[in-house]
Amino acid sequence: MITIAVTNQKGGVGKTTCCVNLSAELGRLGHRVLVVDTDPQGNCSSGLGHDRESSPKSLYDILIDGSDIQDVVVETPWEGVSLVPANINLAGAEVELSSAISRESRLKGALSTVEDLYDIAIVDCPPSLGLLTVNALVAAKRLLIPIQCEYYALEGVGQLARTVDLVRQYLNPNLNMDGVVLTMFDSRTRLANDVVTEVREGFGDAAFETLIPRNVTLSEAPSYGKPISYYQENCKGALAYRDLAREVEGRWLKEDL
Ligand code: ADP
Ligand code: MG
Repeated sequence: MITIAVTNQKGGVGKTTCCVNLSAELGRLGHRVLVVDTDPQGNCSSGLGHDRESSPKSLYDILIDGSDIQDVVVETPWEGVSLVPANINLAGAEVELSSAISRESRLKGALSTVEDLYDIAIVDCPPSLGLLTVNALVAAKRLLIPIQCEYYALEGVGQLARTVDLVRQYLNPNLNMDGVVLTMFDSRTRLANDVVTEVREGFGDAAFETLIPRNVTLSEAPSYGKPISYYQENCKGALAYRDLAREVEGRWLKEDL
């Protein structure tokens, strides 16, 4: 199993949209995907159609109460996609973890117990660099950083890079910061094109070729609890996430599977 953390401490850049749709596309390609929602807001869980009422357990129970991850995983209606849901209890987890033993590596420990059951774990991070994100960075081999094609696109990326360096030095030497995906791209604006150029110059090969367009259908799908391909299969957003999944597969999965 390869673990990919989708992270950027800036909010609203497309992390959750990326987790939901990349996971669904990888599932459609035949991979067994476990999505882990670490954001107390639970947008990734609801975007995958998870109903909070139906299962009271969440990542909180795994990180804080030591529940078995298999008792928390729920199946989704989407081919190949299982989910460790988040709920609002997680908001307290940062504080509760802060004095706990192995506070940075609890997610890694839990995921190691299901290593043979999934091909890929995709972890949606909250918009902060707190202990929940650190747990994702410690568990992950690859980082996927969505960058929005807007003003201040790279704001915070330097701070993320410093955190990644610290995690690499002390906790997870195997972490690679080599995946950047540009989101909400609008080819008509000069600004968006400038951001693409800047990111490609700065990140080189780490930047994926696929540009995720600004596409209103992508923002509608979560209110139906569906990944884009199950909502409007051939809209621009769906095609883009399909391309991204192929790219992720070619770059990261071939060597790891
Ligand atoms: P984050 O998880 O980084 O906070 P989200 O994925 O929740 O970001 O996206 C923020 C908002 O932008 C959401 O309302 C989402 O539906 C919308 N959105 C995300 N990606 C796109 C896109 N490519 N085109 C249009 N809207 C998008
Ligand atoms: Mg989010």
